[in-house]
Amino acid sequence: MIKVTFPDGAVREYAKGTTGTTIVEGISKSLAKKTVAMRWDGEMADLSDSLGADGRIEFVLRDDEAALELIRHDAAHVLAEAVQELWPDTQVTIGPVIENGFYYDFYRSEPFSEDELRQIEKKMEEIVDRGAEFTKEVWDRDEAKKVFGAKGEQFKVELIDAIPEDQQLKIYKQGQWFDLCRGPHMRSTKDVGKAFKLTKVAGAYWRGDSNREVLSRIYGTAWATKEQLDAYLHMVEEAEKRDHRKIGQEMDLYHFQPEAQGSVFWHPKGFVMYHALEDYIRRRLDASGYKEIKTPQLLDNKLWEKSGHWGKFRENMFVVPDETPTTEGDQPVISADANLLALKPMNCPAHVQVFNQGIKSYRDLPLRLAEFGCCHRNEAHGALHGLMRVRQMTQDDAHIFCRVDQIQSETEKFCALLDSVYEDMGFTDVKILLATRPETRAGEDAVWDLAEKSLGDALKATGRNFEIAEGEGAFYGPKLEFHLKDAIGRSWQCGTLQLDFVMPERLEASYVAEDGSRQRPVMLHRAILGSLERFLGMMIESYAGRMPLWLAPVQVVVATIVSDADAYAHEVAADLRARGIRAEVDTRNESINYKVREHSVGRVPFIYVAGRREAEEKTVSIRQLGSQGQTVKPVAEAVADMEAAVTPPDIRRNTAR
Ligand SMILES: [Zn+2]
Ligand SMILES: [Zn+2]
Repeated sequence: MIKVTFPDGAVREYAKGTTGTTIVEGISKSLAKKTVAMRWDGEMADLSDSLGADGRIEFVLRDDEAALELIRHDAAHVLAEAVQELWPDTQVTIGPVIENGFYYDFYRSEPFSEDELRQIEKKMEEIVDRGAEFTKEVWDRDEAKKVFGAKGEQFKVELIDAIPEDQQLKIYKQGQWFDLCRGPHMRSTKDVGKAFKLTKVAGAYWRGDSNREVLSRIYGTAWATKEQLDAYLHMVEEAEKRDHRKIGQEMDLYHFQPEAQGSVFWHPKGFVMYHALEDYIRRRLDASGYKEIKTPQLLDNKLWEKSGHWGKFRENMFVVPDETPTTEGDQPVISADANLLALKPMNCPAHVQVFNQGIKSYRDLPLRLAEFGCCHRNEAHGALHGLMRVRQMTQDDAHIFCRVDQIQSETEKFCALLDSVYEDMGFTDVKILLATRPETRAGEDAVWDLAEKSLGDALKATGRNFEIAEGEGAFYGPKLEFHLKDAIGRSWQCGTLQLDFVMPERLEASYVAEDGSRQRPVMLHRAILGSLERFLGMMIESYAGRMPLWLAPVQVVVATIVSDADAYAHEVAADLRARGIRAEVDTRNESINYKVREHSVGRVPFIYVAGRREAEEKTVSIRQLGSQGQTVKPVAEAVADMEAAVTPPDIRRNTAR
């Protein structure tokens, strides 16, 4: 007999070799109907597995979040079967689960075209309707190679050869069709359901090796219900419409070019927005007891060696020789023993240098040093993505140097500031993860205990919900991650708070404690936005370019109907600008409808229309982005309204107080 522990703590005995299926059917028919897999001692497993020893069981229901991965994996198998049924000459390779879906790579003479996807989906639905059971077999290696070889599946033979000798070769069957697979799977193809869609085709090299065969990859997405699928497809459609690269061009905010891969050329309109955001954060930090500093871009590699970055992070750093190159022809020549500098990939070691100036006492702590730090990271060209993934970024970075007993209160203060900033930006749905100690780590367990507890206590004390990300902390300390949800439901990790006991040690930071002894401070690496570039990219997408008024690059355009109103339009714009409002004038010889359309594409929130009548009566006709009508107001009133409306949220709060 074996002892099986259930999630509620109950323990029951079963005959050795009992399957999960038998257990769940013994509990209730209705539970069995919904259960597609199980977790055995925390590991996902086939429900039909026989249980050979004591353990903990949890049933995975089809509508559990955890079942999504199984649905997608099974869908990939169904896709491969469908393709081979339709085109028996096609060879199968691999088909992993990816975020929101799956893909499968096939080898055939002609790549798939998007036109074929509907036909494949139909066949997949047929296979789902058949409801063939997934069954697992363990095969002998040579036998497996023979079977796949005879079917002409050369890639599978290669995969088998790559599986370590001590690992079992598992085959999953669904009716006549079978695949080499680690599993687990749900009960039958019926469990896949029909909430799936094939989304696109692409080329891919076998094993990602450009010297090997080109495969044809089919991407798909799969969900538990049709509603989830529709919501996802709608989100993708919205995301495409809101792509910040497209909107950035329409609003004339910035550009990229090949000579500066991954580095932004901010245009005047984009930089105004960037500045408004930076100014806002600076005000918030000033008010929260941070001191702003500026540290060098280029630092000697000896410092990076000491901080540990040279060893762990070097391939991501841009290294610069500290000498004037001699030239041979047009080529610069660097001597072999040139002293090396690196462009900083992060600001932390430089901040410790500032901390280390002069003697610090416990009374100086916490010391909060902030920098809009411009950092460079050598990201691969292929990984770059508009503002979201760049090589040159500016972080809203700060390091808090404090005592261990100050971690909790500093964390509480940071969380309050972060919440308030996100709310000002229009984000209220924030998920917090507490990432705990990883397997390989520096420092003693007692310190880790205290650090993790301080972070957790700070969150609990302020009534915040959070999830634990077991083992996901950095090697030097635990961290908090803040994920915020945008207008179309996507999640973005922006804020972080990381505890660090290692860097103060490596770079010899210390303070004089109350008893006169020398102590190491703890270092809290923290950011709220993450990088200004990425945060703005995210804001542009979330707002579809219609930024909150205080961040809008141009807040109002005064547009004329007739040239007789030109002088008046300039007068109004000058009045607006004198009050700090970002106003432009459009006196071009174009129709007012043309002007309104064009400024709508540029996402200008307000247009003040000025014609002969408005000039005479000292009024403006106000058109707001996204609404049809217009209202006429005396210009003095309109300007005063605008002045109040463009006030950044923090200043508005302070004035209201
Ligand atoms: Zn599989
Ligand atoms: Zn840092």
